[in-house]
Amino acid sequence: MPVLLCDLDDTLFDHQHATRAALARLQAADPRLQQWPLEDLKRRHHLLLEQFHQEVLAGRLTIDEAREQRFQALVGGGDAAGLAQAYREAYTADWREVAGASALLRAVRDRGWAVVIVTNNIVSEQRLKLARIGLTDLVDHLVTSEEVGVSKPHAGIFHHALGVVDAAPSGAVMLGDAWPADVEGARAVGIRPVWLNRHGATSPDPSVAELRDLVPTATALATLLP
Ligand SMILES: [Mg+2]
Repeated sequence: MPVLLCDLDDTLFDHQHATRAALARLQAADPRLQQWPLEDLKRRHHLLLEQFHQEVLAGRLTIDEAREQRFQALVGGGDAAGLAQAYREAYTADWREVAGASALLRAVRDRGWAVVIVTNNIVSEQRLKLARIGLTDLVDHLVTSEEVGVSKPHAGIFHHALGVVDAAPSGAVMLGDAWPADVEGARAVGIRPVWLNRHGATSPDPSVAELRDLVPTATALATLLP
Protein backbone atom coordinates (compact mmCIF):
# COMPACT_ATOMS: atom_id res chain seq x y z
CA MET A 1 0.00 0.00 0.00
CA PRO A 2 1.44 3.44 -0.87
CA VAL A 3 1.92 5.61 2.18
CA LEU A 4 2.18 9.25 3.08
CA LEU A 5 4.59 9.58 5.99
CA CYS A 6 3.90 12.80 7.79
CA ASP A 7 5.57 14.80 10.53
CA LEU A 8 3.18 16.11 13.22
CA ASP A 9 4.57 19.24 14.97
CA ASP A 10 4.33 22.25 12.67
CA THR A 11 3.32 20.07 9.75
CA LEU A 12 -0.20 18.95 10.76
CA PHE A 13 -0.33 20.37 14.30
CA ASP A 14 0.20 24.13 14.64
CA HIS A 15 2.73 24.10 17.48
CA GLN A 16 4.04 27.58 16.65
CA HIS A 17 0.60 29.11 17.00
CA ALA A 18 -0.01 27.53 20.40
CA THR A 19 3.45 28.48 21.65
CA ARG A 20 3.16 32.06 20.51
CA ALA A 21 -0.25 32.48 22.12
CA ALA A 22 0.98 30.90 25.36
CA LEU A 23 4.12 33.03 25.58
CA ALA A 24 2.17 36.21 24.89
CA ARG A 25 -0.22 35.37 27.73
CA LEU A 26 2.60 34.49 30.12
CA GLN A 27 4.56 37.59 29.25
CA ALA A 28 1.62 39.83 30.06
CA ALA A 29 1.33 38.22 33.49
CA ASP A 30 4.96 37.75 34.59
CA PRO A 31 7.48 40.63 34.80
CA ARG A 32 10.40 38.17 34.47
CA LEU A 33 9.38 37.64 30.85
CA GLN A 34 8.97 41.33 30.05
CA GLN A 35 12.69 42.03 29.56
CA TRP A 36 12.48 40.87 25.94
CA PRO A 37 10.18 41.76 23.04
CA LEU A 38 7.80 38.85 22.29
CA GLU A 39 9.74 37.78 19.18
CA ASP A 40 12.94 37.59 21.21
CA LEU A 41 11.20 35.66 23.98
CA LYS A 42 9.86 33.22 21.38
CA ARG A 43 13.32 32.67 19.94
CA ARG A 44 14.91 32.10 23.36
CA HIS A 45 12.10 29.75 24.35
CA HIS A 46 12.40 27.84 21.07
CA LEU A 47 16.13 27.23 21.54
CA LEU A 48 15.58 25.95 25.09
CA LEU A 49 12.64 23.83 23.97
CA GLU A 50 14.82 22.11 21.35
CA GLN A 51 17.59 21.62 23.90
CA PHE A 52 15.40 20.12 26.64
CA HIS A 53 13.33 18.13 24.15
CA GLN A 54 16.48 16.11 23.41
CA GLU A 55 16.55 15.13 27.10
CA VAL A 56 12.92 14.00 26.86
CA LEU A 57 13.64 11.98 23.70
CA ALA A 58 16.62 10.38 25.44
CA GLY A 59 14.42 9.42 28.39
CA ARG A 60 16.47 11.50 30.83
CA LEU A 61 13.65 13.90 31.72
CA THR A 62 9.88 13.63 31.72
CA ILE A 63 8.05 16.18 29.63
CA ASP A 64 6.93 17.96 32.83
CA GLU A 65 10.48 18.08 34.25
CA ALA A 66 11.81 19.38 30.95
CA ARG A 67 9.21 22.15 30.87
CA GLU A 68 10.09 23.31 34.39
CA GLN A 69 13.84 23.24 33.71
CA ARG A 70 13.28 25.08 30.44
CA PHE A 71 11.50 27.95 32.17
CA GLN A 72 14.06 27.97 34.96
CA ALA A 73 16.80 28.42 32.34
CA LEU A 74 14.74 31.06 30.58
CA VAL A 75 14.31 33.27 33.64
CA GLY A 76 17.81 32.61 34.98
CA GLY A 77 17.02 30.37 37.95
CA GLY A 78 14.60 30.55 40.83
CA ASP A 79 11.19 28.97 41.05
CA ALA A 80 9.73 28.34 37.63
CA ALA A 81 7.14 25.69 38.53
CA GLY A 82 4.25 28.15 38.38
CA LEU A 83 5.47 29.54 35.10
CA ALA A 84 5.82 26.07 33.60
CA GLN A 85 2.33 25.11 34.70
CA ALA A 86 0.84 28.34 33.37
CA TYR A 87 2.60 27.74 30.06
CA ARG A 88 1.24 24.21 29.77
CA GLU A 89 -2.31 25.40 30.44
CA ALA A 90 -2.05 28.26 27.96
CA TYR A 91 -0.30 26.11 25.35
CA THR A 92 -2.92 23.36 25.40
CA ALA A 93 -5.74 25.92 25.25
CA ASP A 94 -4.67 26.98 21.78
CA TRP A 95 -4.22 23.70 19.94
CA ARG A 96 -5.32 23.67 16.33
CA GLU A 97 -4.38 21.95 13.10
CA VAL A 98 -2.22 23.62 10.48
CA ALA A 99 -4.85 25.06 8.14
CA GLY A 100 -6.01 22.40 5.70
CA ALA A 101 -4.39 19.42 7.44
CA SER A 102 -7.52 17.33 7.93
CA ALA A 103 -8.85 18.05 4.42
CA LEU A 104 -5.51 17.03 2.94
CA LEU A 105 -5.31 13.76 4.89
CA ARG A 106 -8.85 12.93 3.81
CA ALA A 107 -7.93 13.55 0.16
CA VAL A 108 -4.78 11.41 0.48
CA ARG A 109 -6.78 8.53 1.93
CA ASP A 110 -9.44 8.90 -0.77
CA ARG A 111 -6.63 8.24 -3.26
CA GLY A 112 -6.02 4.90 -1.53
CA TRP A 113 -2.89 5.95 0.34
CA ALA A 114 -2.23 5.12 3.97
CA VAL A 115 -1.21 7.91 6.38
CA VAL A 116 1.49 7.25 8.98
CA ILE A 117 2.70 9.95 11.37
CA VAL A 118 6.46 9.88 12.01
CA THR A 119 7.32 12.14 14.93
CA ASN A 120 10.15 12.85 17.35
CA ASN A 121 8.16 12.99 20.53
CA ILE A 122 6.45 10.88 23.17
CA VAL A 123 3.43 8.80 22.28
CA SER A 124 1.02 10.10 24.96
CA GLU A 125 1.58 13.74 23.97
CA GLN A 126 1.20 13.05 20.25
CA ARG A 127 -1.94 10.92 20.74
CA LEU A 128 -3.45 13.75 22.76
CA LYS A 129 -2.69 16.28 20.02
CA LEU A 130 -4.18 14.10 17.27
CA ALA A 131 -7.32 13.55 19.31
CA ARG A 132 -7.76 17.18 20.31
CA ILE A 133 -7.36 18.53 16.77
CA GLY A 134 -9.58 15.82 15.29
CA LEU A 135 -7.02 13.86 13.24
CA THR A 136 -7.03 10.49 15.02
CA ASP A 137 -9.44 8.85 12.57
CA LEU A 138 -7.50 10.17 9.56
CA VAL A 139 -4.27 8.48 10.57
CA ASP A 140 -3.53 4.79 10.08
CA HIS A 141 -0.55 4.63 12.45
CA LEU A 142 1.35 6.87 14.81
CA VAL A 143 5.10 6.15 14.90
CA THR A 144 6.99 7.99 17.64
CA SER A 145 10.70 8.16 18.42
CA GLU A 146 9.80 7.15 21.97
CA GLU A 147 8.45 3.79 20.80
CA VAL A 148 11.00 3.12 18.05
CA GLY A 149 14.00 4.17 20.16
CA VAL A 150 15.60 6.40 17.52
CA SER A 151 14.63 9.86 16.22
CA LYS A 152 14.43 11.33 12.73
CA PRO A 153 16.65 11.65 10.73
CA HIS A 154 17.80 8.14 11.79
CA ALA A 155 16.96 5.64 9.07
CA GLY A 156 15.52 3.23 11.63
CA ILE A 157 12.39 5.27 12.32
CA PHE A 158 11.62 5.59 8.59
CA HIS A 159 12.12 1.86 8.03
CA HIS A 160 9.87 1.17 11.01
CA ALA A 161 7.15 3.45 9.59
CA LEU A 162 7.32 1.75 6.18
CA GLY A 163 7.14 -1.63 7.86
CA VAL A 164 3.88 -0.98 9.71
CA VAL A 165 2.06 -0.65 6.37
CA ASP A 166 4.39 -2.99 4.44
CA ALA A 167 5.43 -0.24 2.02
CA ALA A 168 8.65 0.16 0.05
CA PRO A 169 10.57 3.47 0.07
CA SER A 170 9.60 3.93 -3.60
CA GLY A 171 5.92 3.74 -2.61
CA ALA A 172 6.21 6.43 0.05
CA VAL A 173 6.29 10.20 0.34
CA MET A 174 7.46 12.08 3.44
CA LEU A 175 5.95 15.47 4.29
CA GLY A 176 7.60 17.58 6.98
CA ASP A 177 8.78 21.05 7.95
CA ALA A 178 12.21 20.18 9.37
CA TRP A 179 14.88 20.02 6.70
CA PRO A 180 17.46 17.75 8.38
CA ALA A 181 15.00 15.50 10.22
CA ASP A 182 12.24 15.16 7.64
CA VAL A 183 13.71 15.95 4.24
CA GLU A 184 17.25 14.61 4.59
CA GLY A 185 16.12 11.71 6.75
CA ALA A 186 13.59 10.55 4.17
CA ARG A 187 15.89 11.09 1.22
CA ALA A 188 18.67 9.05 2.82
CA VAL A 189 16.45 5.96 2.81
CA GLY A 190 15.07 6.48 -0.70
CA ILE A 191 11.76 8.10 0.24
CA ARG A 192 10.66 11.12 -1.80
CA PRO A 193 10.52 14.14 0.52
CA VAL A 194 8.19 17.12 0.29
CA TRP A 195 9.26 20.09 2.39
CA LEU A 196 6.57 22.15 4.12
CA ASN A 197 8.01 25.66 4.12
CA ARG A 198 5.30 27.81 5.72
CA HIS A 199 7.56 30.79 6.34
CA GLY A 200 9.20 31.09 2.97
CA ALA A 201 12.72 30.11 4.03
CA THR A 202 15.37 29.65 1.37
CA SER A 203 15.47 26.04 0.24
CA PRO A 204 18.78 24.28 0.85
CA ASP A 205 18.03 22.26 -2.30
CA PRO A 206 15.43 23.58 -4.77
CA SER A 207 15.21 20.16 -6.45
CA VAL A 208 13.19 18.99 -3.41
CA ALA A 209 9.44 19.49 -3.87
CA GLU A 210 8.10 22.22 -1.63
CA LEU A 211 4.72 23.27 -0.25
CA ARG A 212 4.10 26.70 1.23
CA ASP A 213 0.68 25.71 2.58
CA LEU A 214 -1.60 22.71 2.97
CA VAL A 215 -4.35 24.72 1.22
CA PRO A 216 -5.86 24.62 -1.27
CA THR A 217 -6.13 20.85 -0.92
CA ALA A 218 -5.99 20.16 -4.66
CA THR A 219 -2.71 22.06 -5.03
CA ALA A 220 -1.11 20.39 -2.03
CA LEU A 221 -2.29 16.99 -3.20
CA ALA A 222 -0.83 17.54 -6.68
CA THR A 223 2.59 18.24 -5.14
CA LEU A 224 2.41 15.37 -2.68
CA LEU A 225 1.08 12.66 -4.96
CA PRO A 226 1.82 13.80 -8.53
MG1 LIG B 1 7.96 19.40 12.57
